[in-house]
Amino acid sequence: MSETVLPWHIAQWQQLETLRESDRLPHALLLSGPEGIGKRRFARVLMRALVCESPTGEGACGNCRACHFEMEHPDLHTVTAPEGKKQIAVDQVRELVEICNKTAHSSGGRKVIQIYPADAMNNSTANALLKTLEEPSGDTVIILISDAPARLLATIRSRCRQMAFPVPERSLALDWLRVMIPDEGQCMACLDEMAGRPLAAKALFEEDGLALRRQCDEALSAWAGGQKTLGDTVELLLERDLEFLLEWLTQRFHALFRAAMAGQGAQLAAPWLQWVSRPATDISRQLDASLEMRAQVQRGVALNKRLALESFLIAWA
Ligand SMILES: [Zn+2]
Repeated sequence: MSETVLPWHIAQWQQLETLRESDRLPHALLLSGPEGIGKRRFARVLMRALVCESPTGEGACGNCRACHFEMEHPDLHTVTAPEGKKQIAVDQVRELVEICNKTAHSSGGRKVIQIYPADAMNNSTANALLKTLEEPSGDTVIILISDAPARLLATIRSRCRQMAFPVPERSLALDWLRVMIPDEGQCMACLDEMAGRPLAAKALFEEDGLALRRQCDEALSAWAGGQKTLGDTVELLLERDLEFLLEWLTQRFHALFRAAMAGQGAQLAAPWLQWVSRPATDISRQLDASLEMRAQVQRGVALNKRLALESFLIAWA
């Protein structure tokens, strides 16, 4: 028996199993939901099951000839942004289209292609894929994975069977996380910090992210209290990478906004309590700015990190 889907994805799995058993599996799927909940694992399990010679109903058998190849099976293909790039190139999609036009290596078998992040296709790349999504060859399944499906062309979305992968129920997430984080307090803190996304919480734990985020909170607080200059604060923050910082800032301003609207700060990291009575318009402006920076970084825009952080903090001062 090989890898199976995560416990909170059983319903989505059953839905596809039912379709597969009755030979109605869609040729194009769009798995969408927040980052860090296991969509890629789901896709991997599905891909392996679709080429397995005797799938078990929970995934690939793990023993057959096809399973021997794992994700290296010649009928399994992955299209993702090349190393160091944020965008999927149009040539990659053209290659994919060629694969779709050929027959599978295993006789009578399927070709399965995953594309992630599917929103990393610009318009011309997405357009190159459209025709294939419209008129797929019968033995191909294309799985698009996206954390931000709104950024996909509507024409792409409408040609896929869309499957939602929401943030899982807290108790299921905690049960899974406890195996890796035995300390209950830390387990809950990591999950809360990552807004209930279990795989993101696990990653945070593994990189000691809770402590790193607290250092960032304290640096910001020291700057606000006049104990640190803007330059020193930014210097300290820049010891972390930009994606870490933007995830932290976005989460913090999100929490601050919710707390300000509710008029209480129970969910806030302690140094942020001092800002809970700031006008909601100020908070939402900073939240928008951090979201925009994060979107730019995800699109591959080369930000001047120091300048971006300084302007961000000056706007908040
Ligand atoms: Zn197998």
